[in-house]
Amino acid sequence: MTTDQPLYKVFDGHNDVLLSLRMLERGGGRSFFARSDQGHLDMPRAREGGLRGGFFAIFTPDPTGDPFADCLTITADGYEVCLSDPLDQGYALRFTVGMLASLFRLEAESAGQARVIRTADELDACLAEGTASDGPLAMVAHIEGADAIDPALDALYVLYAAGLRSLGPVWSRPNAFGHGVQFKFPATPDTGPGLTEAGRALVRACNQLGVLLDLAHITEQGFWDVAALTDAPLVVTHTAAHALTPFTRNLTDKQLDAVRESDGVVGVIFGVGNVRADGRNEADTPLSDIVRHTAYIADRVGIDHVALGSDFDGTAIPQALGDVAGLPRLLAALQAHGFDDAALHKLTHANWQRVLRQTWR
Ligand SMILES: [Zn+2]
Repeated sequence: MTTDQPLYKVFDGHNDVLLSLRMLERGGGRSFFARSDQGHLDMPRAREGGLRGGFFAIFTPDPTGDPFADCLTITADGYEVCLSDPLDQGYALRFTVGMLASLFRLEAESAGQARVIRTADELDACLAEGTASDGPLAMVAHIEGADAIDPALDALYVLYAAGLRSLGPVWSRPNAFGHGVQFKFPATPDTGPGLTEAGRALVRACNQLGVLLDLAHITEQGFWDVAALTDAPLVVTHTAAHALTPFTRNLTDKQLDAVRESDGVVGVIFGVGNVRADGRNEADTPLSDIVRHTAYIADRVGIDHVALGSDFDGTAIPQALGDVAGLPRLLAALQAHGFDDAALHKLTHANWQRVLRQTWR
């Protein structure tokens, strides 16, 4: 058996394939169902890598430009990206409905091979079908940044009815509910204020509906505000360890401890800017950097509270991984580091299954 055979069914904390498909649609197009060398994720490559599902992010880009390109400042020891302006809610809602429609179109075109998951039973049943490389894909509708939701929360209830099961209150920009963390290296995640009053109401409504609250991209203050209020386990779908890479998007040891104490889950991101010690955005990054963060977080929070949160199609990942088809190489590297079969079972999917069952009502 070679290391290129997918042995583990992977359920992953974050991908941006819907945005990638939509953006490329405008500029030429690729199909989710055809193997492509564009982006990181499509159905044939998911099967090669053993990806059997995950959180499919609905992210509304700024209509005026790319903040990374437009307001990046290089500093003596790193960089800083200015905080984006808030989005118009009506614009974000129209974009979000379009992205959610893309997810349902994928499901409709898949002939049962890609399913929008709404309950823990559906998730378990979907993952139980088939092998790592031939079973159906379990897709959880996730909104990254609640910019589409009005402060009265009308849109939240409608989006929930349409299948939404996971929501990040903020992306890295302010909205009605709180403040996103600014992209800055090296710096702590304490870059601004926390939840607004509407943000507190959003947390309570998500608890009541059983919508997972994703604390990726929120300020440290916002993280503690949610932690004090929520009755669900704390979840951060795509992040890494601040102690190893002092990037504002990574979690401090204190935050990691809070995730553990709440019985939550941290999804380890593959983004080079999150996992390289120097924070640089370079594709020439060894898999050992992802392994190092995974091992550090597993030591800190325990193997029951760490999972994968790739950010496929959302950020630059190591060349050594390439795309989702490279997952078996990463899992082999984790195995070589000392993660045994039971640990990899939890890391690749079982921890996500547990926390979603605890969170969804
Ligand atoms: Zn993100």
